[in-house]
Amino acid sequence: MSEENQENQETVEIGEKDIVTCSNCPGAMFTEVVTFVKVPAVASQTGKAGIAPAGNTFICMNCGTDISETEAIKELRGDGDSGLVL
Ligand SMILES: [Zn+2]
Repeated sequence: MSEENQENQETVEIGEKDIVTCSNCPGAMFTEVVTFVKVPAVASQTGKAGIAPAGNTFICMNCGTDISETEAIKELRGDGDSGLVL
């Protein structure tokens, strides 16, 4: 989803200084992780109990720290509504 969104944005210079790094280690690679919830049979479209994705976030591939802990995200939160753009 994030790759499609970027096509509509203006071209800006994004350099090495703009790379988001982990708050806990020098890592700059993040991976998407998904939270799942259990779905009982009565609430399931298939009529069978199962699990369903309930939300996602990104964590550092090196140490597992959530991306919301990074300085880059904390700076943006100070501006109000801005934050993680996916
Ligand atoms: Zn890390």
